[in-house]
Amino acid sequence: MSAERPGEPGGAGKRAPAGAGPPALARRWRRRRLLAAADGRLAVGLDIGGTKIAAGVVRADGRIVEQTRIPTPQESDEKVTVSTLVGVIGRLRAGHPEVEAIGVGAAGLVQWPAGLVVWAPHNPYRDLPLRRLLHERTGLPTVVDNDANAAAWAEARFGAGTGSDDMILLTVGTGVGGGLVLGGRVYRGVGGLGAEVGHMIVAPDGAPCSCGSSGCLEAMVSGTALARMGREAVLADPEGALARRAGDGEVTGPLVFEAAKAGDPTARALFGRMGFWLGVGIASLVTIFDPELVVVGGGLVTTGDLLLGPARTSVERYVFAPAHRTLPPVVPARLGPEAGMVGAATLALRAGG
Ligand SMILES: [Zn+2]
Repeated sequence: MSAERPGEPGGAGKRAPAGAGPPALARRWRRRRLLAAADGRLAVGLDIGGTKIAAGVVRADGRIVEQTRIPTPQESDEKVTVSTLVGVIGRLRAGHPEVEAIGVGAAGLVQWPAGLVVWAPHNPYRDLPLRRLLHERTGLPTVVDNDANAAAWAEARFGAGTGSDDMILLTVGTGVGGGLVLGGRVYRGVGGLGAEVGHMIVAPDGAPCSCGSSGCLEAMVSGTALARMGREAVLADPEGALARRAGDGEVTGPLVFEAAKAGDPTARALFGRMGFWLGVGIASLVTIFDPELVVVGGGLVTTGDLLLGPARTSVERYVFAPAHRTLPPVVPARLGPEAGMVGAATLALRAGG
């Protein structure tokens, strides 16, 4: 492949209207809905985060039958974690004895298909064979996947990407997570550690990342990055509106987020910068995978186009061969915080069915 960008200099790519998927998506969506309508099989889905575990009974067609939330055991060993999970599974199964599988989405590095949680950012356990332990304790077929992979699967089947077999999800919150659905399957790499799009390097000279590298997408676009840029902005303009809003308190991501929503121009400019970097990352992903659409979820996307507007502009600027392709729509996620739980449950039913 040529290293040069074909096409006229500065030629803008064709872009599908934001929010509207390609027509083929709508057709497949209708077909899948008809097929799924008859599929009422049930699984328990669990999404293990740093502070909360979302748990629920989910139908194969993605509908949530019952759900609950419990705190993630803190400072606990694997025994406490596993018995907490077994407890909530038992309570959900008591009300729905026809549950036939268990799906878990876990934050961190998860080996697939072994379901070994190698490392979790907020939990002390390491190399936890969660799939085997839950299967032994419940007798049900079990899958354990990375939480963002599970969320990507749910968005591709029941959310913003419904009907698409080639979709990329990025979630922008405190950090950046993501998942790839390619050819109708979750792409995990050879052992499950693939698709860590948040640690794709977009600016090697950029800010240090929590992973020890620098200039990862997550270091440039996240709640953490927003707080850092907010502090820099306040230092640069100590009399400005953002500084006044912070007062004597700390400049946090949520503070800058609220300021942006209230129309503060400095805070909005920071979202513009983050959107630029988000678009740089998405451009590389589009160049490599040529997806049908890109879905962006997470807390920082609730500002709508504040982040996605500048992201779309820089996707157009940096993607390979923009004059020769239809750019995939970059759209907000639809499923919200339940995506991981729904995705994990339906992956379990798919594996068992
Ligand atoms: Zn990183």
